Amino acid sequence: MNPRTITLHDCSFSTYICEEEIIARIVMLAEQLDQAYAGKTPLFLAVLNGSFMFTADLLKRISIPCEVSFIRLASYQDMHSTGKVKEILGLNEDISGRHVIVLEDIVDTGHTVHGLLKQLADRGPASVEVATLLMKPECLQHELEVKYVAKTIPNDFVVGYGLDYNGLGRNLRDIYKIVS
Ligand code: 5GP
Repeated sequence: MNPRTITLHDCSFSTYICEEEIIARIVMLAEQLDQAYAGKTPLFLAVLNGSFMFTADLLKRISIPCEVSFIRLASYQDMHSTGKVKEILGLNEDISGRHVIVLEDIVDTGHTVHGLLKQLADRGPASVEVATLLMKPECLQHELEVKYVAKTIPNDFVVGYGLDYNGLGRNLRDIYKIVS
């Protein structure tokens, strides 16, 4: 991949994870999930907006019977997590007795996933696991088991492939990191 620098609002970002690597990692994740959930007809719960590309590319590669639904939570302001847990919007399915797999774009402090898992547990699912495209282990502030991680990254702010910087960058096919 030729290094490329882009500008979004007031910040510069340079290429970091190319589309080929993203897809290769998603293919591996899909194989893992196919094996782990064979015979279970899992329900994927994709957290909008950031996970839309990840969800589409992952689900195309899942070959076991499954369902997918999209939910919405807190939005991310600038480059810092708000730490607030927001209510789940758009979850119309009855998840009791279901095997649920939450699809996240990125786990940073873990506040979002921690809050979400607590709320989902109250609805009586058979199991809940998290599959995330990216994870920043250095930033984690909760005891969270994120079982399925496509790639771990250091504490850099990234955009592209669904992830935005104040609304921009979600459409980029590669992932970029902020130029420090
Ligand atoms: P957490 O609650 O784990 O701190 O943050 C999770 C959410 O923050 C993600 O779903 C994502 O929307 C946002 N986020 C965390 N780190 C980044 C990042 O490096 N880039 C972007 N664009 N969003 C991030």
